Amino acid sequence: MVERIFYRYRCGPPSKRSLRRLLPWIRPYSWQLALMLVTALLGTLVGLAVPLIARQVIDGPIAAGDRSALLPLALLAVAFGVAEALLILIRRWATANSSLGMENDLRNDLYRHLQRLPVAFHDKWQSGQLLSRATTDLAIIRRFVGFAAVFIITDTLTFLVIAIMLLVMYWPLGVVTLVSGIPLVIFMLHHERIYKVLARRVQDQTGELTTAVEEAAVGIRIIKSFGRRQMFYDGYDEQARTVRGQQLDKIRTLAKIWSVLDAYPQIVLAVVVLIGSIGVAKGAVTLGTLAAFAALYLAAIWPIAALGWLLANAQDAAAAGDRLMEVLDTPTTIVESERPSRIEHPRGQIRLEGVGFAYHDAPDAPVLRDVNLTIESGETLAVVGATGSGKTTLTALVPRLYDVTAGRITIDGVDVRDLAIADLRTIVATAFEEPTLFSASVRENLTLGRPQATDAEVAEALSVAHAEFVHRLPWGLDTRIGEQGLSLSGGQRQRLALARAILGRPRVLVLDDPLSALDVHTEELVETALRSVLNQTTGLVVAHRASTVLLADRVALMEDGTITATGTHQELLETVPAYREILSQEAELDSDLDPV
Ligand code: ADP
Repeated sequence: MVERIFYRYRCGPPSKRSLRRLLPWIRPYSWQLALMLVTALLGTLVGLAVPLIARQVIDGPIAAGDRSALLPLALLAVAFGVAEALLILIRRWATANSSLGMENDLRNDLYRHLQRLPVAFHDKWQSGQLLSRATTDLAIIRRFVGFAAVFIITDTLTFLVIAIMLLVMYWPLGVVTLVSGIPLVIFMLHHERIYKVLARRVQDQTGELTTAVEEAAVGIRIIKSFGRRQMFYDGYDEQARTVRGQQLDKIRTLAKIWSVLDAYPQIVLAVVVLIGSIGVAKGAVTLGTLAAFAALYLAAIWPIAALGWLLANAQDAAAAGDRLMEVLDTPTTIVESERPSRIEHPRGQIRLEGVGFAYHDAPDAPVLRDVNLTIESGETLAVVGATGSGKTTLTALVPRLYDVTAGRITIDGVDVRDLAIADLRTIVATAFEEPTLFSASVRENLTLGRPQATDAEVAEALSVAHAEFVHRLPWGLDTRIGEQGLSLSGGQRQRLALARAILGRPRVLVLDDPLSALDVHTEELVETALRSVLNQTTGLVVAHRASTVLLADRVALMEDGTITATGTHQELLETVPAYREILSQEAELDSDLDPV
């Protein structure tokens, strides 16, 4: 109980507001939804007419023994049956079209928003949580729009129509029946509230479980090589048990709801038949009316029973809507300048002026402070520093994956925040230590930043990055790679990532230790190629090895988030002991680089 209250406090009640906020996605399908509603209502009314025909049959032809009058009534019942079937067909068509269309639109918008959100958002959010929002939560909302929302309306109306019919037919029985509905409604409202909390808990926990599965799948090599399978399995098992326990809680509540919904109406029906029989015996009501009454009462049970379930579904949908809005409401903090400046002919001079940066989770502990650097157009600067000194963070600031929290970064004198983001990312290209390739063809992976690149440009980039091996792949540039395709070696991946960066013909190339996974022979090949590329662009290269440092014209030493020395490699080796120490730590100094 305490946990339940705590939970409710923590996630807050799913609000009707979040359902209302889904309206913009529902509106384009209004006429289909209206058609759905109309056909559902007509279908229900047609269904309700059948017990009335039965009453005519019993009180008319059967009571009078007049068989000839049976045929028209039977034909009428058949016609109503056919009409009901047709209405169901139309309703299902409208349902499928509108709810699937809405789900698709919503998913596209979510995806677009996720793409736009800053890297800082993705640092904070587990990908499993995002996955479960893009799949499970959207499916819940689709089911609500395509089913529950319509039936909440039709069932309520059906119930009201039946209630009036019952009262008109034989009011004492009508009153008994309606009054008997009150305890059922109170029971349902109470249990739905419990169900709602349980539903959100299961949804959240499923997100956690998805994250665990995803991490284990992505990191399977590391898990195996460190022999931590059991540990991961135990962690997963515990989470799976939690989900199972929560699902069971949810099912127990549902079971309770269903058993009451099943048993209670039957008891009421027994009372109705008993009172009705007395009425028939007294002649206050005909047999046909009693039969129609019982049939209508049974027809009313489904709307009452379903109403509870449908409201629970609405709660699920509200919880799912809340979870979606949490993502959609997250503002994009890397915002476009309202009046972006343009650099007509970028030269690629980069200047960092008093740059400071703190990650959002530790605003008081800046990772970078007072960084001042100028990289002239065409120059290549290597950044060297101990692990954790802030090198990678620095490289992420230039293409605005994060925004500086102090100072500014300029390209050709223009603050990067004043450039249109698309322009900035055309001027600056990046290749990170972990080269990400997507499940797509080699060509698609290469032309990610420049879809209109010609074959000649692709071939040139591949040649510069020494990635011609792709021509020898089974289907050449059309070979599928990435998670769902052919696996490539670490060196091959890095050369492809380099080719991708070079393909944009960027004025500024930011490379975060791009050569780390290459064998010595390949590294030499790529280095030679990179040198010629870097001759034509401005380069900011994070270097761990002395051999990478040699690609640069100048080196900056980074210590504890700030630049403590700059100069040529040789100068720093001779005058800065800390620099020598770091390079010798990172890798054994190459004998021909040794100052001695
Ligand atoms: P380097 O590349 O020199 O190893 P990083 O730039 O990766 O250094 O990291 C600098 C510091 O910032 C480290 O203390 C690291 O823990 C912290 N850091 C890096 N990435 C993040 C992040 N996404 N969120 C919070 N802190 C981070």
